[in-house]
Amino acid sequence: MSETSASFHPELNDDQIQIRDWVHDFAERSLRPVAHEWDEREEFPWPVVREAAEIGLYGWEFLANGMFGDPTGLTMPVAIEELFWGDAGIGLAIMGSALAAAGIASSGTQEQLMEWVPQCYGDASDLKVGAFCASESDAGSDVGGYRTTARYDQARDEWVLNGTKAWITNGGIANIHVVVGVVDSSLGSKGHASFIVPPGTAGLSMGQKYKKHGIRASHTAEVVLDDVRVPGRCLLGGKQKLDERLARVRAGEHGNAQAAMQTFEATRPSVAAQALGIARAAFEYSLDYAKEREAFGRPIIMNQGIAFILADMAAEIEATRALIWRASWLGAHHEFAHAEGSMAKLKAGRLATWATERAIQILGGYGYSREYPVERWHRDAKIHDIFEGTEQIQQLVISRAISGLRIE
Ligand SMILES: Cc1cc2nc3c(=O)[nH]c(=O)nc-3n(C[C@H](O)[C@H](O)[C@H](O)COP(=O)(O)OP(=O)(O)OC[C@H]3O[C@@H](n4cnc5c(N)ncnc54)[C@H](O)[C@@H]3O)c2cc1C
Repeated sequence: MSETSASFHPELNDDQIQIRDWVHDFAERSLRPVAHEWDEREEFPWPVVREAAEIGLYGWEFLANGMFGDPTGLTMPVAIEELFWGDAGIGLAIMGSALAAAGIASSGTQEQLMEWVPQCYGDASDLKVGAFCASESDAGSDVGGYRTTARYDQARDEWVLNGTKAWITNGGIANIHVVVGVVDSSLGSKGHASFIVPPGTAGLSMGQKYKKHGIRASHTAEVVLDDVRVPGRCLLGGKQKLDERLARVRAGEHGNAQAAMQTFEATRPSVAAQALGIARAAFEYSLDYAKEREAFGRPIIMNQGIAFILADMAAEIEATRALIWRASWLGAHHEFAHAEGSMAKLKAGRLATWATERAIQILGGYGYSREYPVERWHRDAKIHDIFEGTEQIQQLVISRAISGLRIE
């Protein structure tokens, strides 16, 4: 459907195969055995993230090499699929800081990137995390509805942030909080800017910590901003660029919507890869189970009713991986044409939710027990229909891209 200038070869190079196997090994050795424990504890798994930092999987360098140093775009989705195959809650604890890093990379200058992104990670001896704070209790999908204000105090060259952010991964436990604030409420989402809140800044505190359905090893909480003052240099992109952009919007220019779409689209295949990893875990587990479990004197896989579910799972997993890899490749080449990143995320979220539910069915009563991992995978899968743009928001983006119309 897309008109692209170069052809897409869905093959991993030697480095990517090595990274895939390395992450898989870590996921099998260090995530699978403790996944149940951290799900039950509902706490951020610091020791496991430290282990990931020790081997170089959690860290700014890994992200930089995977995201910016890979012209094919395939390294991150391949690594993320393996990580989330191991465990999604711990996987998100490891990947959560990348949200903050992506927020800094999309709006910040090169100097801001170099100063703040390493502080979202720290190192194995002094581990740090980052948080990207956009959503609010009354405005998740509707980004034009944010109420957190950002007011410039010219006399002190400081920005003053006030409001409460909701559902923030690593909220309140992060070293660096990247906060989206409303600079000019009359401009809707075009009147926003992003700010770094450095460690130890007065006025920032953690609100409620959410008790969640799944990905329970990942920390999610409110972030309260009460007269938080940050230096002028914490405005991502700088004041001059912000003033120029706001002036263009006030003058009626629509801005570069295409550039904004490319940025959002580029992160979606990685989120889709998270869901794919969960779906593959559920598929492999239920396939093995179906070959071993006997009913009516034969393995349950000998019934078409079971075997065909597994056949569908296998086909859907392959199709979704192909979509994710192609979307990742298009993202790396800035060649999205029809919201392929959103297509990948939409399809992968639905796949994970469906495949994990079917896996419970294949395991019968054991599938419903917390002694077996498939019920956890089902709880973990559902978030992929919700965060980073819900199922309906992906449909909205795709329908606008394919029609060229402002579908509401
Ligand atoms: C575990 C978790 C972690 C998160 N981490 C972060 C984070 O780190 N940073 C951050 O900023 N946010 C984060 N979020 C917030 C997340 O991005 C939002 O929950 C999500 O965008 C949906 O917003 P909402 O919950 O307000 O739902 P709403 O926007 O209120 O949507 C409710 C329902 O209405 C549908 N809907 C809304 N608008 C439309 C429309 N125009 N057309 C059709 N249907 C529509 C939605 O699809 C959904 O089904 C996280 C959320 C969770 C649960």
